[in-house]
Amino acid sequence: MKKYSFSVMLLAMMLVIAACGEADETGGDAEGDDDQTEETGDDNGDGDEETAADWASDVTVLTGGEQGVYFPLGGAMAQIISDNVDDVAASGVSTGASVVNVNDIQDGMGELALVQNDIAYFAQEGMIMFDENLDGFSGIATLYPEVVQIVALEDSGIETVDDLEGKRVAVGDQGSGTEANASQILESHGITYDDINPEYMAFGDAAGGLQDGNLDAAFITAGTPTGAIESLQANRDIVIVSINQDAIDDLTSEYPYYTEFTVDGDTYGTEDATTVAVQAMLIASNDLPEDQVYEMTRAIFENLDVIEGTHARGADITIESAQDGMSIDLHPGAERYFDEQ
Ligand code: GLU
Repeated sequence: MKKYSFSVMLLAMMLVIAACGEADETGGDAEGDDDQTEETGDDNGDGDEETAADWASDVTVLTGGEQGVYFPLGGAMAQIISDNVDDVAASGVSTGASVVNVNDIQDGMGELALVQNDIAYFAQEGMIMFDENLDGFSGIATLYPEVVQIVALEDSGIETVDDLEGKRVAVGDQGSGTEANASQILESHGITYDDINPEYMAFGDAAGGLQDGNLDAAFITAGTPTGAIESLQANRDIVIVSINQDAIDDLTSEYPYYTEFTVDGDTYGTEDATTVAVQAMLIASNDLPEDQVYEMTRAIFENLDVIEGTHARGADITIESAQDGMSIDLHPGAERYFDEQ
C-alpha cells in the first residue's frame, strides 16, 4: 500500500520533517502504521482505519527461478488476484527464492511471497542465516511439499551423498532455501562446502550445467515434478540420490520442518529416492490491510482450479490443509478467512 503511494508519502514526510526536523528513513514502510491515514491524506476522522485507499493497488508476488514451481504458481496467483479483487493489479516476479523473498518483503519490495516454511520460521526467529528477527510479514497458507532433490547424471557414478565429495555441485541460488537445505544435508553427512566445489545458481542453470557436463550434481528443493529436472531428464539419464536414513533421522529431529519424503520412481523415470521435504507457503507483508489480505486469500482459495491447471502441485492446495506446517504467525486477514470456513 504505502509503497505505491510513495510520492504522496514522501510529500507528507517532507512536511513532517519540515515541521519537526525529524525523519524516519523507512518512510513508514514497515512501521508507523498509525500515521497511515494521514499519509494517504484521506483521513476523514471517522475512525475507519481501513479504507480502500489503504490498499496496495499494485501487488508484487515474489516467486523464484523461472524453471522452479514458485514462478508459475506465483504467476497464477497474481492472475487470480488481478481478475477477482477489485482495483488490485498483481504480478509475479522471478527472484532468488525463499531467503531473498523474506528479506525483500521485509524491505517493502513485495507484498506477497512464496517461501519455504523452514526459512520463514528461521526469519521470524532470527536464526541460522538471519541475524535478527524479521517481523514485517506473516503467513497466509501452506501449499504443497517441496522436496529436496539431489540430481546427478546416471553415468556420473554418484549414488550417495558421500559421493558428492570433491564434486562440482549446484547448491541453489544465492539466498535460496535450497542453498540452506544443501548445506544442512551435506553437514548431516559430515560434508562441508570445503569438501565440494559449490556453485550458486538457479535450477534452470543447474540443469543446463549438468547437461553440458559442467556440473556433477545439483540440489533442487521444489515441488515435484520440477520443470528443470524434467527438461534435463528429457535429454539425459538421471538419478535422484537418496539421503542416508541416519541423516534423515538427524535432520528431522534437529530441524522442526523437515519430514521424510520418497520421490516416486515414476516422477522422472528413476529409482525411488528417500529424502526430506519442507512445505511451500504463501506469506503477506504486514503493511497490507486485513481486508485486502482477506480478499486476496478468498480469491486464491475460490480459484484453486486455475492454480491446479498451472502445475500438478496446485492439487495439494486445500482450505483443510492450509495451516498444516504453518511455521509463523498468521496474517489477520488470512486468519479471518480460514476461521470463517
Ligand atoms: N524452494 C526453493 C527455494 O526457496 C524455490 C522453489 C521454486 O522455485 O519452486 O530455494
